[in-house]
Amino acid sequence: MTQATLIDGKAIAASVREEIGRRAQELQAATGKRPGLAVVLVGEDPASQVYVRSKDRTANELGFHSVKHTLPADTAEADLLALIETLNTDPDIHGILVQLPLPGHIDESKVLRLIRPEKDVDGFHPVNVGLLNAGERDHALVPCTPHGSLILLKRTLGADLSGKTAVVVGRSNIVGKPMASLLLAESCTVTIAHSRTRNLPDVIRAADIVVAAVGRPEMIRGEWIGKGATVIDVGINRLPAPELGEGKTRLVGDVAFDECLDHVGAITPVPGGVGPMTIVMLMANTLTAARRQLGLPEDK
Ligand code: NDP
Repeated sequence: MTQATLIDGKAIAASVREEIGRRAQELQAATGKRPGLAVVLVGEDPASQVYVRSKDRTANELGFHSVKHTLPADTAEADLLALIETLNTDPDIHGILVQLPLPGHIDESKVLRLIRPEKDVDGFHPVNVGLLNAGERDHALVPCTPHGSLILLKRTLGADLSGKTAVVVGRSNIVGKPMASLLLAESCTVTIAHSRTRNLPDVIRAADIVVAAVGRPEMIRGEWIGKGATVIDVGINRLPAPELGEGKTRLVGDVAFDECLDHVGAITPVPGGVGPMTIVMLMANTLTAARRQLGLPEDK
Protein backbone atom coordinates (compact mmCIF):
# COMPACT_ATOMS: atom_id res chain seq x y z
CA MET A 1 0.00 0.00 0.00
CA THR A 2 1.35 3.41 -0.94
CA GLN A 3 0.72 6.20 1.49
CA ALA A 4 3.70 8.44 0.81
CA THR A 5 3.26 11.70 -1.05
CA LEU A 6 5.77 12.04 -3.87
CA ILE A 7 7.55 15.38 -3.71
CA ASP A 8 7.58 16.52 -7.32
CA GLY A 9 10.89 18.36 -7.67
CA LYS A 10 10.34 18.96 -11.38
CA ALA A 11 7.03 20.75 -10.85
CA ILE A 12 8.28 22.78 -7.88
CA ALA A 13 11.46 23.71 -9.77
CA ALA A 14 9.34 24.81 -12.76
CA SER A 15 7.28 27.13 -10.57
CA VAL A 16 10.37 28.64 -8.90
CA ARG A 17 11.95 29.08 -12.31
CA GLU A 18 8.94 30.91 -13.66
CA GLU A 19 9.13 33.33 -10.73
CA ILE A 20 12.85 33.90 -11.38
CA GLY A 21 12.19 34.64 -15.06
CA ARG A 22 9.57 37.20 -14.09
CA ARG A 23 11.82 38.87 -11.54
CA ALA A 24 14.72 38.95 -14.01
CA GLN A 25 12.49 40.85 -16.43
CA GLU A 26 11.54 43.28 -13.66
CA LEU A 27 15.21 43.79 -12.91
CA GLN A 28 15.94 44.56 -16.54
CA ALA A 29 13.02 46.97 -16.74
CA ALA A 30 14.20 48.78 -13.61
CA THR A 31 17.96 48.89 -14.28
CA GLY A 32 18.54 48.01 -17.93
CA LYS A 33 20.71 45.14 -16.69
CA ARG A 34 20.29 41.39 -16.98
CA PRO A 35 21.53 39.09 -14.20
CA GLY A 36 25.00 38.00 -15.38
CA LEU A 37 26.42 34.53 -14.72
CA ALA A 38 29.93 33.33 -15.60
CA VAL A 39 30.55 29.59 -15.45
CA VAL A 40 34.16 28.40 -15.56
CA LEU A 41 35.06 24.84 -16.53
CA VAL A 42 38.63 23.56 -16.38
CA GLY A 43 39.26 20.25 -18.16
CA GLU A 44 37.01 17.79 -19.92
CA ASP A 45 35.29 15.79 -17.21
CA PRO A 46 32.15 14.54 -19.03
CA ALA A 47 29.77 15.00 -16.07
CA SER A 48 31.09 18.53 -15.49
CA GLN A 49 30.62 19.34 -19.18
CA VAL A 50 26.98 18.26 -18.95
CA TYR A 51 26.40 20.36 -15.80
CA VAL A 52 28.06 23.45 -17.29
CA ARG A 53 26.09 23.17 -20.55
CA SER A 54 22.86 22.88 -18.67
CA LYS A 55 23.66 25.85 -16.38
CA ASP A 56 24.52 27.97 -19.42
CA ARG A 57 21.35 26.87 -21.25
CA THR A 58 19.08 27.56 -18.27
CA ALA A 59 20.62 31.00 -17.76
CA ASN A 60 20.04 31.82 -21.44
CA GLU A 61 16.47 30.54 -21.35
CA LEU A 62 15.76 32.84 -18.40
CA GLY A 63 17.11 35.83 -20.32
CA PHE A 64 20.26 36.13 -18.18
CA HIS A 65 23.58 37.33 -19.56
CA SER A 66 25.51 34.05 -19.55
CA VAL A 67 29.21 33.55 -20.24
CA LYS A 68 30.97 30.20 -20.37
CA HIS A 69 34.75 29.93 -20.00
CA THR A 70 36.14 26.55 -20.98
CA LEU A 71 39.82 26.12 -20.15
CA PRO A 72 42.13 23.18 -20.91
CA ALA A 73 42.90 20.64 -18.15
CA ASP A 74 46.54 21.82 -17.94
CA THR A 75 45.61 25.47 -17.29
CA ALA A 76 48.05 26.99 -14.80
CA GLU A 77 46.53 27.93 -11.45
CA ALA A 78 47.76 31.51 -11.94
CA ASP A 79 45.81 31.79 -15.21
CA LEU A 80 42.61 30.59 -13.57
CA LEU A 81 43.11 33.05 -10.71
CA ALA A 82 43.66 35.84 -13.23
CA LEU A 83 40.39 34.97 -14.98
CA ILE A 84 38.56 35.12 -11.66
CA GLU A 85 40.08 38.54 -10.90
CA THR A 86 38.76 39.75 -14.25
CA LEU A 87 35.28 38.36 -13.59
CA ASN A 88 35.31 39.85 -10.08
CA THR A 89 35.58 43.33 -11.56
CA ASP A 90 33.32 42.82 -14.60
CA PRO A 91 30.18 44.90 -13.94
CA ASP A 92 28.07 42.69 -16.24
CA ILE A 93 28.87 39.57 -14.21
CA HIS A 94 27.00 39.23 -10.92
CA GLY A 95 27.64 35.54 -10.29
CA ILE A 96 30.75 33.40 -10.78
CA LEU A 97 30.66 29.62 -10.62
CA VAL A 98 33.78 27.48 -10.94
CA GLN A 99 32.71 23.95 -11.75
CA LEU A 100 34.16 21.41 -9.32
CA PRO A 101 36.16 19.24 -9.14
CA LEU A 102 39.20 21.11 -10.45
CA PRO A 103 42.24 19.26 -11.80
CA GLY A 104 44.59 18.09 -9.03
CA HIS A 105 47.33 20.67 -9.67
CA ILE A 106 44.96 23.53 -8.78
CA ASP A 107 44.27 24.49 -5.16
CA GLU A 108 40.48 24.43 -5.04
CA SER A 109 40.08 26.41 -1.84
CA LYS A 110 42.44 29.14 -3.10
CA VAL A 111 40.28 29.51 -6.19
CA LEU A 112 37.00 29.56 -4.25
CA ARG A 113 38.37 32.10 -1.75
CA LEU A 114 39.31 34.49 -4.56
CA ILE A 115 35.74 34.79 -5.85
CA ARG A 116 34.19 37.95 -4.40
CA PRO A 117 31.66 36.77 -1.79
CA GLU A 118 28.92 38.90 -3.38
CA LYS A 119 29.46 37.00 -6.65
CA ASP A 120 29.89 33.55 -5.06
CA VAL A 121 26.65 32.01 -6.36
CA ASP A 122 27.69 28.52 -5.21
CA GLY A 123 27.82 29.84 -1.64
CA PHE A 124 31.14 28.11 -0.88
CA HIS A 125 33.23 31.19 0.07
CA PRO A 126 34.09 31.26 3.80
CA VAL A 127 32.28 34.61 4.14
CA ASN A 128 29.03 33.07 2.89
CA VAL A 129 29.57 29.95 5.00
CA GLY A 130 30.14 32.19 8.02
CA LEU A 131 27.06 34.36 7.36
CA LEU A 132 24.86 31.28 7.06
CA ASN A 133 26.22 29.83 10.31
CA ALA A 134 25.95 33.16 12.11
CA GLY A 135 22.22 33.25 11.39
CA GLU A 136 22.60 35.96 8.73
CA ARG A 137 21.22 33.95 5.88
CA ASP A 138 19.52 36.99 4.37
CA HIS A 139 22.95 38.49 3.64
CA ALA A 140 24.57 35.27 2.45
CA LEU A 141 24.47 33.34 -0.79
CA VAL A 142 23.34 29.86 0.22
CA PRO A 143 24.61 26.64 -1.47
CA CYS A 144 22.14 25.60 -4.15
CA THR A 145 21.37 21.95 -3.33
CA PRO A 146 20.56 22.43 0.36
CA HIS A 147 18.66 25.63 -0.43
CA GLY A 148 16.58 23.76 -3.01
CA SER A 149 16.03 20.91 -0.55
CA LEU A 150 14.72 23.37 2.04
CA ILE A 151 12.23 24.75 -0.47
CA LEU A 152 11.00 21.20 -1.19
CA LEU A 153 10.53 20.66 2.55
CA LYS A 154 8.60 23.90 2.98
CA ARG A 155 6.38 23.23 -0.02
CA THR A 156 5.59 19.84 1.53
CA LEU A 157 5.31 20.62 5.24
CA GLY A 158 4.46 24.32 5.21
CA ALA A 159 6.64 27.31 5.97
CA ASP A 160 7.02 26.62 9.70
CA LEU A 161 9.43 23.78 10.38
CA SER A 162 10.18 24.86 13.94
CA GLY A 163 10.44 22.15 16.57
CA LYS A 164 10.75 19.33 14.06
CA THR A 165 13.53 16.81 14.55
CA ALA A 166 15.77 16.53 11.50
CA VAL A 167 18.61 14.17 10.70
CA VAL A 168 21.04 15.07 7.94
CA VAL A 169 23.08 12.07 6.86
CA GLY A 170 26.35 13.40 5.39
CA ARG A 171 28.57 16.28 6.50
CA SER A 172 30.07 17.61 3.28
CA ASN A 173 30.63 21.34 2.87
CA ILE A 174 28.50 21.27 -0.27
CA VAL A 175 25.39 19.55 1.06
CA GLY A 176 25.36 18.12 4.59
CA LYS A 177 26.74 20.99 6.67
CA PRO A 178 24.85 23.84 4.95
CA MET A 179 21.67 21.72 5.02
CA ALA A 180 22.06 21.31 8.77
CA SER A 181 22.67 25.07 9.18
CA LEU A 182 19.53 25.89 7.19
CA LEU A 183 17.41 23.50 9.24
CA LEU A 184 18.83 24.90 12.46
CA ALA A 185 17.99 28.40 11.26
CA GLU A 186 14.42 27.12 10.79
CA SER A 187 14.47 26.07 14.47
CA CYS A 188 14.55 22.35 13.79
CA THR A 189 16.36 20.12 16.27
CA VAL A 190 19.17 18.91 14.05
CA THR A 191 21.41 15.85 14.17
CA ILE A 192 24.24 15.47 11.66
CA ALA A 193 25.14 11.84 10.98
CA HIS A 194 28.22 10.62 9.10
CA SER A 195 30.35 7.56 8.53
CA ARG A 196 31.35 7.33 12.21
CA THR A 197 27.82 7.65 13.57
CA ARG A 198 26.84 4.73 15.79
CA ASN A 199 23.42 3.07 15.48
CA LEU A 200 22.51 5.07 12.38
CA PRO A 201 19.12 3.33 11.94
CA ASP A 202 18.06 4.38 15.46
CA VAL A 203 19.26 7.95 14.90
CA ILE A 204 17.28 8.18 11.67
CA ARG A 205 14.16 6.50 13.06
CA ALA A 206 13.65 9.33 15.57
CA ALA A 207 13.47 12.06 12.90
CA ASP A 208 10.50 13.91 11.43
CA ILE A 209 12.74 15.00 8.54
CA VAL A 210 15.48 12.86 6.97
CA VAL A 211 17.91 14.38 4.48
CA ALA A 212 20.17 11.80 2.85
CA ALA A 213 23.41 13.12 1.29
CA VAL A 214 25.75 10.16 1.41
CA GLY A 215 26.50 9.04 -2.13
CA ARG A 216 25.83 5.34 -1.46
CA PRO A 217 23.08 3.68 -3.48
CA GLU A 218 20.02 2.84 -1.36
CA MET A 219 22.11 2.63 1.80
CA ILE A 220 19.30 4.01 3.97
CA ARG A 221 16.72 1.26 4.27
CA GLY A 222 12.99 1.89 4.52
CA GLU A 223 12.75 0.26 7.96
CA TRP A 224 15.22 2.82 9.33
CA ILE A 225 12.78 5.64 8.63
CA GLY A 226 9.93 6.46 11.00
CA LYS A 227 6.26 6.40 10.07
CA GLY A 228 5.11 9.68 8.57
CA ALA A 229 8.62 11.14 8.16
CA THR A 230 9.50 13.45 5.27
CA VAL A 231 12.46 12.20 3.24
CA ILE A 232 14.68 14.34 1.03
CA ASP A 233 17.02 12.11 -0.95
CA VAL A 234 19.91 14.18 -2.28
CA GLY A 235 21.96 11.18 -3.45
CA ILE A 236 22.52 10.59 -7.14
CA ASN A 237 24.06 7.20 -7.85
CA ARG A 238 24.35 5.63 -11.27
CA LEU A 239 23.99 1.84 -11.34
CA PRO A 240 24.29 -0.63 -14.23
CA ALA A 241 20.84 -1.64 -15.48
CA PRO A 242 21.23 -4.62 -17.82
CA GLU A 243 17.43 -5.13 -17.63
CA LEU A 244 17.11 -1.90 -19.67
CA GLY A 245 19.53 -3.09 -22.33
CA GLU A 246 23.24 -3.63 -22.81
CA GLY A 247 25.39 -0.91 -21.27
CA LYS A 248 22.35 0.93 -19.84
CA THR A 249 22.37 2.56 -16.43
CA ARG A 250 19.77 3.96 -14.05
CA LEU A 251 19.87 6.54 -11.27
CA VAL A 252 19.04 5.71 -7.67
CA GLY A 253 19.20 7.76 -4.51
CA ASP A 254 20.75 7.07 -1.12
CA VAL A 255 17.39 5.85 0.22
CA ALA A 256 15.72 2.54 -0.67
CA PHE A 257 12.74 4.36 -2.20
CA ASP A 258 10.35 1.40 -2.67
CA GLU A 259 10.77 0.31 0.93
CA CYS A 260 9.57 3.72 2.14
CA LEU A 261 6.36 4.11 0.19
CA ASP A 262 4.06 2.26 2.61
CA HIS A 263 4.92 4.25 5.72
CA VAL A 264 6.75 7.56 5.19
CA GLY A 265 4.74 10.78 4.84
CA ALA A 266 6.49 12.20 1.78
CA ILE A 267 9.61 11.42 -0.24
CA THR A 268 11.55 12.83 -3.18
CA PRO A 269 12.11 10.47 -6.11
CA VAL A 270 15.50 10.09 -7.79
CA PRO A 271 15.61 11.37 -10.46
CA GLY A 272 13.03 14.16 -10.36
CA GLY A 273 13.39 15.29 -6.74
CA VAL A 274 16.28 17.43 -5.52
CA GLY A 275 18.18 17.40 -8.84
CA PRO A 276 15.92 19.83 -10.73
CA MET A 277 16.00 22.27 -7.79
CA THR A 278 19.79 22.66 -7.72
CA ILE A 279 20.14 24.42 -11.05
CA VAL A 280 17.11 26.62 -10.41
CA MET A 281 18.61 27.75 -7.10
CA LEU A 282 21.80 28.71 -8.94
CA MET A 283 19.68 31.02 -11.07
CA ALA A 284 17.93 32.32 -7.93
CA ASN A 285 21.32 33.09 -6.37
CA THR A 286 22.47 34.88 -9.52
CA LEU A 287 19.34 37.01 -9.48
CA THR A 288 19.82 37.77 -5.77
CA ALA A 289 23.47 38.66 -6.36
CA ALA A 290 22.50 40.96 -9.25
CA ARG A 291 19.82 42.74 -7.20
CA ARG A 292 22.27 43.32 -4.35
CA GLN A 293 25.03 44.57 -6.65
CA LEU A 294 22.60 46.87 -8.41
CA GLY A 295 21.40 48.27 -5.10
CA LEU A 296 17.84 46.93 -5.26
CA PRO A 297 16.01 45.79 -2.12
CA GLU A 298 16.39 42.19 -0.97
CA ASP A 299 14.02 39.54 -2.31
CA LYS A 300 11.93 38.06 0.44
P1 NDP B 1 30.56 13.57 -0.02
O1 NDP B 1 31.17 12.30 -0.52
O2 NDP B 1 31.34 14.81 0.00
O3 NDP B 1 29.99 13.31 1.46
C1 NDP B 1 29.34 12.12 1.79
C2 NDP B 1 29.02 12.12 3.25
O4 NDP B 1 28.37 10.89 3.56
C3 NDP B 1 30.25 12.24 4.16
O5 NDP B 1 30.02 13.18 5.18
C4 NDP B 1 30.39 10.84 4.74
O6 NDP B 1 30.84 10.79 6.08
C5 NDP B 1 28.96 10.34 4.71
N1 NDP B 1 28.93 8.87 4.67
C6 NDP B 1 29.62 8.06 3.83
N2 NDP B 1 29.36 6.77 4.13
C7 NDP B 1 28.50 6.78 5.16
C8 NDP B 1 27.88 5.77 5.92
N3 NDP B 1 28.09 4.47 5.67
N4 NDP B 1 27.06 6.12 6.92
C9 NDP B 1 26.83 7.43 7.20
N5 NDP B 1 27.39 8.44 6.51
C10 NDP B 1 28.22 8.12 5.50
O7 NDP B 1 29.22 13.73 -0.90
P2 NDP B 1 28.34 15.04 -1.24
O8 NDP B 1 27.79 15.62 0.01
O9 NDP B 1 29.05 15.91 -2.20
O10 NDP B 1 27.16 14.34 -2.05
C11 NDP B 1 26.31 13.38 -1.46
C12 NDP B 1 25.38 12.81 -2.52
O11 NDP B 1 24.59 13.86 -3.03
C13 NDP B 1 26.10 12.20 -3.73
O12 NDP B 1 25.32 11.10 -4.18
C14 NDP B 1 26.07 13.31 -4.75
O13 NDP B 1 26.07 12.80 -6.08
C15 NDP B 1 24.72 13.90 -4.44
N6 NDP B 1 24.58 15.31 -4.86
C16 NDP B 1 23.45 15.65 -5.49
C17 NDP B 1 23.22 16.94 -5.90
C18 NDP B 1 21.94 17.26 -6.55
O14 NDP B 1 21.84 18.26 -7.23
N7 NDP B 1 20.90 16.46 -6.34
C19 NDP B 1 24.23 17.97 -5.71
C20 NDP B 1 25.36 17.56 -4.90
C21 NDP B 1 25.54 16.25 -4.51
P3 NDP B 1 32.35 11.21 6.51
O15 NDP B 1 32.37 12.70 6.48
O16 NDP B 1 32.47 10.63 7.88
O17 NDP B 1 33.25 10.58 5.50
